[in-house]
Amino acid sequence: MTAPTALAIVGVGKIARDQHLPSIARNPAFDLVAAASRNARLDGVENFTTAAEMFEAMPGIEAVALCMPPQARHAIAADALGRGKHVLLEKPPGATLSEINHLAHLAEACGVSLFATWHSRFAPGVEPARDWLAGKSIRSVRVDWMEDVRHWHPGQDWIWEPGGLGVFDPGINALSIVTRILPEPVWLTSAELSFPENRAAPIAARLRFEGGSDLTAEAIFDWRQTGPQTWDIAVETDEGKLVLSAGGATLAIDGAVVSEAPEAEYDGIYARFAELIAKRQSDVDISPLRHVADAFMLGRRQIVEPFHDHAGDGH
Ligand code: NAP
Repeated sequence: MTAPTALAIVGVGKIARDQHLPSIARNPAFDLVAAASRNARLDGVENFTTAAEMFEAMPGIEAVALCMPPQARHAIAADALGRGKHVLLEKPPGATLSEINHLAHLAEACGVSLFATWHSRFAPGVEPARDWLAGKSIRSVRVDWMEDVRHWHPGQDWIWEPGGLGVFDPGINALSIVTRILPEPVWLTSAELSFPENRAAPIAARLRFEGGSDLTAEAIFDWRQTGPQTWDIAVETDEGKLVLSAGGATLAIDGAVVSEAPEAEYDGIYARFAELIAKRQSDVDISPLRHVADAFMLGRRQIVEPFHDHAGDGH
């Protein structure tokens, strides 16, 4: 058995604590040796304030997981790749398409693995959905991705800043599933983006797409939904209707549940990262982010009422 990969983590916030740390601990292919965080300290590993200090002090670090918001990732990713480290990027992989293109070229030039993760693609219903749709004629796709931003993103100011993507932060998860399961590409034809008058990112979006053979698709993203939360994708085909619900956890065909399994998205991500490192391969699919970029290019912007995270947050 080969020695575990010496891994470091940068950006110790919500997703690092909720998902990365437990999945890394469960995976014998990785040994978490260090963390770089401006605020947090992790027990049992070396701690640094910046990634650069960490890389200088611990040249034995072989791989790094970047768990900070997308606007802060490119410079650290480029530094890590240039130093010969394998790099895992949280979703969305960056703030622009071109910076990810740069990272992909750098990874290739440096002979290391770059993994732009899309955690929703590791939801248990996604690969069975892809298999079922293969070879079928798709008529329409409908995405409803509606959640309560105050519940899921309290105090996350970065998400409302340029590059934070607003409602596309969750919406891109739906797009990562759609781009994985459909047997043919779709392209955006129109969009409406609702920007709170005090924010730089949308709180809701409606996107329309077309594909070959008269395929139409529509996606509704809304961060103003209280009560039950909705993360559903429905696909009408010539041979029946597929519904992925609960963010991809449950798959139903013509109303009958055919696949339902416990969530293990980040275990899947780290298994894939280990595989990529072993093969010195990269996995960088920007198609979900490209649809978001298209929506910002083609979308009609409307201004809606201001969004206040909590009383007195200054916005
Ligand atoms: P978060 O808790 O608000 O931030 C993560 C950490 O990033 C912070 O604790 C901070 O870590 C660092 N950070 C924040 N702003 C920074 C900045 N401007 N420059 C450098 N570092 C900064 O966010 P999160 O929810 O974990 O999300 C991080 C990424 O994971 C996002 O891309 C998000 O889309 C993705 N994600 C989140 C979830 C979720 O449920 N929250 C789910 C899946 C994916 P330090 O204090 O350690 O420096």
